[in-house]
Amino acid sequence: MINIKDIQAVFIDRDGTIGGTGHFIHPKDFKPYDFSKDAFQLLQDHGIKTFAFTNQHRISRKEASIQEFLEEFSSYGFDDAFICPHSENDVCGCHKPRPGMLLEAARIHNLDLKKCVVIGDVGSTDMLAAHAVGAMKILVLTGWGKSSLQQCRDAWKNVEPDYIAENLLEAIRWLLKKQGGI
Ligand SMILES: [Mg+2]
Ligand SMILES: [Zn+2]
Repeated sequence: MINIKDIQAVFIDRDGTIGGTGHFIHPKDFKPYDFSKDAFQLLQDHGIKTFAFTNQHRISRKEASIQEFLEEFSSYGFDDAFICPHSENDVCGCHKPRPGMLLEAARIHNLDLKKCVVIGDVGSTDMLAAHAVGAMKILVLTGWGKSSLQQCRDAWKNVEPDYIAENLLEAIRWLLKKQGGI
């Protein structure tokens, strides 16, 4: 287990983790859960870099723009955001469960991904992407979290999350406490 002092960044999925339902919601309509702002604040208070990483294939259908998502994440105080705009049929390296967004973040921000944490609600995308680069994996039970652990468990059966959290805030609190930060 990495020490809090060694954590270089936390990557947070959007839909079903920060807010919403797990389905596409346009940035102008997206509402973070009540507790999400507290979670962001805790990370900022501890000086931990925070990045969004999200699949948004509706961008490829022109239903939203990358810029609108970047503005949304910037409004949360995130340090950067990594967005896959491609459709599932495009052959890109960034669509989760592929780890391209994490690798790009590591390159740009000079990160050791083994000292990074990934938080998301979908086992077959978020947890597999994290697993591919050796990051710490926290599954949240909001969004698709419960179905990821039940009817969809087969899709990521060889991977165990390091922790299963009720929600994003509990995930961050666990992380900070576990690492002796608070
Ligand atoms: Mg999600
Ligand atoms: Zn992509």
